Amino acid sequence: MPASTPYTRFQTTLEEVMKRLKLSQEERTHFAEPQFIHKTDILVKRDNGKEEHFPAFRVQFNNARGPFKGGIRFHPEADEDEVKALAALMSIKTAVVNIPFGGGKGGVQCNPKELSKSELQEVSRAYVRAMVDNIGPDIDCPAPDVNTNPAIMAWMRDEYEKETRTYSPAVITGKPVSYGGSIGRDKATARGGFFILQDLMDREALDPEELKVAIQGFGNAGANMAQFLHNAGYTVVALSDSQGGIYAEEGIDPIRIEKYKRKTGQVAGEYCSGSVCDTERMKLDGIQHVTNEQLLELECDILIPAALDNVITAKNAEKIQAKYILELANGPTTPEADEILEKKGVMIIPDVLANAGGVTVSYFEWTQGRSGGMWPAERVDAELKRYILDGYKAVRREARRQNMTYRQAAFSVGIKRMLDAMRVRGWV
Ligand code: NAD
Repeated sequence: MPASTPYTRFQTTLEEVMKRLKLSQEERTHFAEPQFIHKTDILVKRDNGKEEHFPAFRVQFNNARGPFKGGIRFHPEADEDEVKALAALMSIKTAVVNIPFGGGKGGVQCNPKELSKSELQEVSRAYVRAMVDNIGPDIDCPAPDVNTNPAIMAWMRDEYEKETRTYSPAVITGKPVSYGGSIGRDKATARGGFFILQDLMDREALDPEELKVAIQGFGNAGANMAQFLHNAGYTVVALSDSQGGIYAEEGIDPIRIEKYKRKTGQVAGEYCSGSVCDTERMKLDGIQHVTNEQLLELECDILIPAALDNVITAKNAEKIQAKYILELANGPTTPEADEILEKKGVMIIPDVLANAGGVTVSYFEWTQGRSGGMWPAERVDAELKRYILDGYKAVRREARRQNMTYRQAAFSVGIKRMLDAMRVRGWV
């Protein structure tokens, strides 16, 4: 059997759900492939004077419901297949939370850790120059993703405005608040996931004070989530980054870890330098070193993958002890693992719902960019809660009515909403 890829994994769920919904052959063709795939090589002059090529992608999956929307990732493994899968997931996600966008995604195959600040700026600007005809406030609005941040979004907006000689704050979201960003966008992905988790725990009559959480990934999504959960009384027992993680049965204070991460560059930085750890001190503080693989299998109630895709697979699904999985990362669970976990009775809140808070506040940023207004934090928070919990309600209902998992139900809600738009537009 050929190895699965991010796009074939997306297609597995898509096929299951299209079959259940009895889509016609003509309707199916609109979900089979992206509407547009733009790929190019961007040429960047390194600080040493040498020129280097980086493969760059923008995939526009579907715009039946509005302009394409989705982040840009800078990663050595970003490739066409991965970006295609992420663009497809974005189309479902924007439909699940019912915001007027389609789905797209971008990527540059580079290692940002090996680039200086000026090289990073040049990669960002070169990407926009390469894609300038394919993006725009009414066409396709990028945003941050793995290894891209507000500073990069600012360079990108600036480059777009220079190239097009326009004033276009709505071309890109996730910008700094001082340059057209929205208050609350930085924490929106975690905030949305937190609203869902709180609602779910209320429904299950579970008390946060009695719940243990393990989080993989300590970036924008994972670190903010850790803080929300800690402040709400949950016990965060494990945290990790690309260099590994830490576990403490009694709980970890994520605010302290954030400080050490900033100082040392790693989550375990208080105790370890690279892979060499001060085991005596760890023992005294009740801390254990864990690998990213071990973290997923720890004893906990809630597991939150918030880093990479394809981490919960047929190999480790059986060993997962959590009863709930909230997917802040995109595509962390394979279809084979989904099946195993369903049989074990594990409830998964899927990525297309769990991490949709980011794109929802990106929509608020886009509307603010178009109207020239600035929403206060209270409004952003209240509207985010309304959109994300409405999406959650639609998924819950669909799951109950159609006897589906939450992932299948989210795909079902998304596909139906996309089809509605295609029908009224006369595409099908
Ligand atoms: P980020 O770059 O801010 O952080 C990524 C984190 O993952 C870092 O802590 C990094 O050290 C860690 N990591 C990298 N490789 C790892 C590995 N092999 N094992 C464990 N950890 C590893 O990225 P982010 O914005 O927090 O995104 C994380 C995930 O959430 C991605 O899947 C992204 O697509 C998804 N997501 C993010 C947003 C958003 O608004 N930031 C929105 C939706 C989905």
